[in-house]
Order: sequence, then structure tokens, then C-alpha cells
Amino acid sequence: MDDTHVGQQQEQGKGRARHRAERTCIGCRAQRGSHDLLRFVCTPQGQAILDSSWHAPGRGVYVCYDVICLRKALTPARLALALKQPVIAPDFDVVYQEVRSLLYKRLRACLGLGQKAGAVVSGYALLQKACAQARVLYMILAEDIASGRAGEYRSWCTQHNVPHVMLFTKEELGHIIGKPSRSALGLTAPHFLELLCAILTSLERLSIAYDKI
Ligand SMILES: [Zn+2]
Repeated sequence: MDDTHVGQQQEQGKGRARHRAERTCIGCRAQRGSHDLLRFVCTPQGQAILDSSWHAPGRGVYVCYDVICLRKALTPARLALALKQPVIAPDFDVVYQEVRSLLYKRLRACLGLGQKAGAVVSGYALLQKACAQARVLYMILAEDIASGRAGEYRSWCTQHNVPHVMLFTKEELGHIIGKPSRSALGLTAPHFLELLCAILTSLERLSIAYDKI
């Protein structure tokens, strides 16, 4: 291994360390990895905005994927204190929709990557075979799946102890994996399942809390 390679590895190591850096939610004060929190920054005009890139320059503040934390955090007083300058708070409903869109975008990206990595099975016969071989770890059923077909997939899930969730339309599921419409997708790799579940958990925390308000 030459020095350049070692240097690159050290740089990558530093990158991972930064990725894991803990930040504090300004709503509930919990500490989490920075990528498990939403980041907000201030524009030169003093408007606080969601930084969906996580890389916008300037001081950033972090908030949990939780509507209660967002409600507490996105006030002019709390933002001004954390950003150390006068701040115009963003419109709550706009931020809420932005965060939902962001999470759905990440879900689509995760499934698209899973497909490219060969970790997604789709199509009736292939899914049936993969379930029988106990290769399916998680199943996604389309929200507009025909009830008879949904019943079949659910019975396979029950039989093989596979958790499932209803997400996207058949058309969307097909589009995400670059195929014609799909009633169901099966995930076969733990790594992608972990990614998917982390996004679903964020979406759940956002939605459950929103319903309570
Ligand atoms: Zn919080």
C-alpha cells in the first residue's frame, strides 16, 4: 500500500468521523448523530431555512425529525439564541412538507440503490421463490395493490415471518426500480433494510407526533 493510498484512507476516516459527529437538538436537547437530525441555517437576509444538503455554509442548528421538537425549535427566539443573530423563523407547515418530501426522496433513493445492488426482488414468481427461500427480510406493498394480491403477499409474509409496510403506488414502485409498475418489492440485504428502517422511523416520528397536535 503506497502513501497516497494511506493518505486517502486517513482522509476517508476523518470524513467518517465528521459524519458521526454528535449534535444537540435545539428543541429537546437530545444529542444524536448530525445526520439523524435536520439542519437549519440562516440566509444573508436573516431567514432560517432547512438545509437539506447538510453542507450549507455558516452556523447551523439541529432539530430532531419530530414535530414537537420542530414546533419548539422553529421560533424566532429559540433560533436567534442558537444562531446568535436575529432570525426570521420559517413557516412551520412549509418546513413540515419539506421534511416529508426529503424523507420520501431518501426512501426512493434507498430502494433505487438497493435495486442496483441486487438487494430488491420484484415480480410475483420471483418474490414467491425468494420468500420460500427465506431470502426476503422486508416487503413493501403498493398502497393501490389489488386486495386479492395483497392478501397473497400478506400470507407469504406471515408464513415466513417477514414484516411489511404499505408505501407508494404500483406505478411509483416500478418507477423507483426502473421497471414497469410493481405491486410489491422484497428487500434481501440487511444493509438496505437498516437504511430503509431508519428513514421509516423518522417518517413515523414526524407523522405520529403531528397527528397528536
Ligand atoms: Zn429533539
